[in-house]
Amino acid sequence: MDMHIALVPGDGIGPDIVREAVKVLDRTAEIYGHSIAYSEVDAGGVSIDRCGVPLTDEALKTAAASDAVLLGAVGGPKWDHVPGNLRPEKALLGLRSGLGLFCNLRPAVIYPELSEASPLKPSVISGGVDLLVVRELTGGIYFGEKGRGDDDRSAYDVMRYSAGEIERIARKAFEAARLRRNRVTVVDKANVLETSRLWRETVSRVAEDYSGVELDYMYVDNAAMQLVRNPGHFDVLLTENMFGDILSDEASMITGSIGMLASASLRDDSFGMYEPIHGSAPDIAGMDKANPIATILSAAMMLRYSFSLEKEARAIEEAVSSALSDGIRTRDIAGEGDMVVGTAACGDEIARRLS
Ligand code: NAD
Repeated sequence: MDMHIALVPGDGIGPDIVREAVKVLDRTAEIYGHSIAYSEVDAGGVSIDRCGVPLTDEALKTAAASDAVLLGAVGGPKWDHVPGNLRPEKALLGLRSGLGLFCNLRPAVIYPELSEASPLKPSVISGGVDLLVVRELTGGIYFGEKGRGDDDRSAYDVMRYSAGEIERIARKAFEAARLRRNRVTVVDKANVLETSRLWRETVSRVAEDYSGVELDYMYVDNAAMQLVRNPGHFDVLLTENMFGDILSDEASMITGSIGMLASASLRDDSFGMYEPIHGSAPDIAGMDKANPIATILSAAMMLRYSFSLEKEARAIEEAVSSALSDGIRTRDIAGEGDMVVGTAACGDEIARRLS
């Protein structure tokens, strides 16, 4: 397959970690007989320095012309003084809205080798944790009508969803479940919210097209509890924007390792943007200390969701597991007595284990 990937290294450790993901992608392409062309795109602080804005129209155009985008991270203290609408983080919003991304995927996996980093008791996670939060990104209360009452002593935010918005993300969730353990849990508040009742009706209708995928429903308050009580219960957790914002952070925290967490933002077609969930870690930028695994796992998600290369995606995930089993650790995930490797050596070790 011929792939065209836009690379957005960004700021801080962004270039360090994207370089390692490219190393792993190139090795994967070599083994499986694919070819990858890259375009490099400036975004964030680096773009402010070069062009005066966090994202130029041209950068967005280059990203849009690719098949998929791999992003490092943006921001840092150097740009703390710039006015709000020019902040580096605006580049992320510009890319997400400019590319029409409405579906956010955030996997949370507890690797047996790193289970000590989880704040949860060993008995709670002993059965393994491997879940995927699918969050709607462009609708709901964050984007509804908002305002103040006349006397300024009341305020409102409207939560609105159309069946079409729910249906398109439900399909993404069912398709993801088919590549996993065939189970979707819709998280809502259908006992009080009308939008949640529309979510249930719509998702149950979409489910008819996905025989073999089990569907259940859970109230969001219960889901927040179950994530810390019995996280192994979940496979794919499908939810609206605000619930997903909160639950995806909670799910991340139960893994305890920020340098390991990947994400994807998708739209209707196969296009997607893939990035680690952590920031630009300016404290360790350019020091060969960053953990590149979140970005490498984001690249694996790219192969799975944008290019339907499941075998290749799994090969990368297995190479990561194998490196962890062999005791390869960057500083952030090292325990006492572990041997610590740098960013580049970590990428080398993963690339070397690909088969
Ligand atoms: P951060 O995630 O950058 O760092 C938090 C802590 O985790 C730091 O100690 C850092 O060294 C460590 N860390 C993060 N990623 C790591 C990795 N891959 N390997 C090893 N250690 C890692 O969060 P922050 O310090 O709050 O933010 C720093 C900058 O990043 C800010 O400018 C912020 O706005 C920006 N930010 C960007 C994104 C993004 O681009 N998606 C997300 C969050 C924050």
